[in-house]
Amino acid sequence: MSPRAPALVISDLHLDREPGPLLEAVLAFLEGPARTASALYILGDLFEYWVGDDAGFPAAERLAAGLKSLDIPVSFIHGNRDFLVGEAYAARAGMQLAPDPLHVALPCGPAVLLHGDSLCTDDTEHMAFRQQVRSGEWQQAFLAHPLEERIRQAEDMRATSRDKSQIKAAAIMDVNDTAVADVFRDADVPLMIHGHTHRPAIHEVSVDGQPRQRCVLPAWDEHPGYLEINAAGPILRRLDGSPYPKQLLHA
Ligand code: MN
Repeated sequence: MSPRAPALVISDLHLDREPGPLLEAVLAFLEGPARTASALYILGDLFEYWVGDDAGFPAAERLAAGLKSLDIPVSFIHGNRDFLVGEAYAARAGMQLAPDPLHVALPCGPAVLLHGDSLCTDDTEHMAFRQQVRSGEWQQAFLAHPLEERIRQAEDMRATSRDKSQIKAAAIMDVNDTAVADVFRDADVPLMIHGHTHRPAIHEVSVDGQPRQRCVLPAWDEHPGYLEINAAGPILRRLDGSPYPKQLLHA
């Protein structure tokens, strides 16, 4: 693949256990735009939940086959729903598990990639949950349960998270400006890309007087799309390749 080919970034597909229209959409994306890309980055919440690589959920296994058939590097950053995706599934999908934040060289220059939940520091309840479930101890204890029990717990967590999202103020569930500035300072790059908030946009921001761009990816169960990065910079697109409509942006 030509090094001038664009890199593509997606997140927040929220795929369910069983195949459906969302799975078909991502398989079409892998057969379409991804075929002419130089790299694919998946920034978490690929799945609505993940209970272990042994679960064998039909949609996830078909997706793994689709990802595996790509002949470009695929990197995956965990989201707050699929933080248990492990090396076994990554191997089946032919993708690399990547740290959050991930520093990469994109066709337009250096960038930092994240799922995005770590930026939502005003949501202290989620930050505490995040710290708990990212610990090796918690994960080992969870994965030691029988599959049916893990599924039951994951369904409970999803329902709880949905209830809480409905009562939390919108501002609490968006990124915190100080957290964003801190990541820009640490990474020392002009471009940040993340998902999680479901507020697609390309924000022009200034950090310590330096111009920066913060790209937020769309959620596929709302208005699906992807970010294309070529030498000139990032462009948000719908799945048919058309520019992402301005009226759907959270600028
Ligand atoms: Mn998320």
